[in-house]
Amino acid sequence: MIVITSPHAEHDPERLAPLAGRRYWEVPARADALLAAVRQLGHEVVAAHDHGLDPIRRVHDAGYLDFLAHGFERFRALPNAEPALRAGAYAVRYAAHRPDHVLGQAGYYLSSLSAPILPATWQAALGAAHAAIDGADLILRGERSAYALCRPPGHHAHTDLAGGFCYLNNAAIAAQRLLDAGTGPVAILDFDVHHGNGTQQIFYARDDVFYVSVHGDPAQLYPFYQGYADETGSGAGLGWNLNLPLPPGTEDIGFFTAILRAVEAIRAKAPAVLIVSMGFDPHAGDPTANLSVSADGFAAAGRIIASLGLPALLVQEGGYLVERLGDNLTAFLRAFLAPQQAAGG
Ligand SMILES: [Zn+2]
Repeated sequence: MIVITSPHAEHDPERLAPLAGRRYWEVPARADALLAAVRQLGHEVVAAHDHGLDPIRRVHDAGYLDFLAHGFERFRALPNAEPALRAGAYAVRYAAHRPDHVLGQAGYYLSSLSAPILPATWQAALGAAHAAIDGADLILRGERSAYALCRPPGHHAHTDLAGGFCYLNNAAIAAQRLLDAGTGPVAILDFDVHHGNGTQQIFYARDDVFYVSVHGDPAQLYPFYQGYADETGSGAGLGWNLNLPLPPGTEDIGFFTAILRAVEAIRAKAPAVLIVSMGFDPHAGDPTANLSVSADGFAAAGRIIASLGLPALLVQEGGYLVERLGDNLTAFLRAFLAPQQAAGG
């Protein structure tokens, strides 16, 4: 399986712009640990190509992209600018008005303190999106699977809103890339512990992408305001959004039972391609979450997802217990890829 990576190390809010009393868990060491694991497993690692902005504009709002690309320079021109541009005191969206001032736009486009912009943030986000596009292109060229090792992650990014460590929605951009190439319907299975509210928002009214999420109950966990079981899509998209929230403390059995439900629902939609938004933060002890899944739970998920027999693009989302990320990815990949390896693929 081909693994696609992109430069990300300079997007490091915890090191370059720390906030007192608030750890920024989305650190470069996460991607380093995941990369070490795939190298250990012998997978081929390649660098993302530059695909420009056109495939990203298919998903994201033009004003939002302009803010992400140029907001930091505008911010740094202000007197007394800090090392990072943050939502700060103005993080309230009055949808009827988008202010011109960069601080007003920071409150408009950044949903919380969990998506600061540093000098290298835009390039890192762009690289991660390009890695996902490369992954989609590999599937289009006939690969059975590919892994976009994206950092920063993407599933909280809406069409025009960053949050939860996410700026560009890598999985959604990849899904749109596949659709634009004529694949037919795409399913996105998201098992990051946090509901992928951005991916849900992007496809909520559409019947060409089936979004299914297994996650911690948002009544108790970020993103708090989306991810409930009664959110099933709207308009043409009614029935094309499935949320399977899990109570705090859910262990392996509860987790893979939900994955099984997700896979049955995906099978019923008969999609052409599967995208897996892969988060390892359901793991017990993850500092951002509240479930109790083990590496065995991820292996079970890998086996169940592989049973779909669909070409599949894996897109990295979260997972913040850095010392366990390599083991969790290894457990998932061994199980997920076993049928392909048995078939000699
Ligand atoms: Zn997460």
